[in-house]
Amino acid sequence: MVTAQTSAGHLLQLIRNGQANTRAELQELTGLSRSTVSQRLEMLLGRGWVRESGADSSTGGRPRTRLEFDRHHAVVLAAVLDTTHAQAAVLDLAGRPLAERSGSLLIADGPAPALATITDWFQELLGRIGRSGQEVCGIGLAVPGPVDTSQGRVVLPPNMPGWDGYPIADHLQETLEVPVLVDNDANVMALGEHRAKYPDSPAFVLAKVSTGIGAGIVIDGALYRGIDGGAGDLGHIRMPDLGYALCQCGSRGCLAAVASGRALARRLTELGVPTESGADFRRHLDAGQPDAARLAREAGQRVGEVLTTVVCLLNPGLLVIAGDLAETQFVTGVREVLYQRALPRATRNLQVTTAELGEPAALYGTALLVVDHLYSIDQSNTRLIAGALP
Ligand SMILES: [Zn+2]
Repeated sequence: MVTAQTSAGHLLQLIRNGQANTRAELQELTGLSRSTVSQRLEMLLGRGWVRESGADSSTGGRPRTRLEFDRHHAVVLAAVLDTTHAQAAVLDLAGRPLAERSGSLLIADGPAPALATITDWFQELLGRIGRSGQEVCGIGLAVPGPVDTSQGRVVLPPNMPGWDGYPIADHLQETLEVPVLVDNDANVMALGEHRAKYPDSPAFVLAKVSTGIGAGIVIDGALYRGIDGGAGDLGHIRMPDLGYALCQCGSRGCLAAVASGRALARRLTELGVPTESGADFRRHLDAGQPDAARLAREAGQRVGEVLTTVVCLLNPGLLVIAGDLAETQFVTGVREVLYQRALPRATRNLQVTTAELGEPAALYGTALLVVDHLYSIDQSNTRLIAGALP
């Protein structure tokens, strides 16, 4: 009987995560006979998902053929939308970009024009590297708002007028009929940063502070999204002493109303330094503008208040600050409050740092989202049986 533990999808997983590199290792790990392993492997080799390469003679004795996941047998399309600009890329199945571009894109124009632009960009990028739509196995899209990932729809997004409940997957599938995965930008950044830089961290939190404020949580290597995809939506937590500040979401006193890139740009403008956006604020910060430095540190302290609760709840080993405000002054503010207020046991082994990968983490994480889904044990088996291409 074929169970998940002995299926072709299971063998693929062992090869993908590096646990098994040879037929002998697959036999040993699964307890399957030599002929059954060969039979399952034929399916994977036949589809081009796995390839045999060179010979592994590292153990001495007779060299054995190595098995590896073929990251070139298909490509992934990924796009990351921010409020005023977007990035898109064609990536291989290891999440390495083969072609990418960015440009301005106003998310407030609504989903139809934004997704039409992204579709055009995808076609242009595929054309640039001479790949066809037939070679695309899936599409990933990251957005700056809360997402119901089971439906692939945005849910009541404060920064995305017109997007609530819009059928994103249906729209993108009009051009390319492949699976579409949609997730929140902080989530994909967390996934990308974790996989690239801290794959062994069992409890990992990334707080993205740009136009808005959100966090991605990776527990035991997997994203934690909560029941409704609402986990990590920190920006609209109401702070009792901030009752006056009007937030983008319509409420007053949200964290994002005083400590987001958008809020800081407004406050710096009020101080006589014209600043349009969080990215613009960052430029003033990098140039050493003293008011910007002070505001960033204060904002860090504010965000630190909320992150103190996050740290006490999750006890992460790593807290990574990403986004426009991920720099010294802001992180200093976070640390000041965090280490003062959190219980010592929650911070004893906590490392607070800025993102190493930065912006590219989002595209990488979006591609991983698609690949992890399509080549999971269950999806692999389903797709092998259905003969889905590629
Ligand atoms: Zn709000």
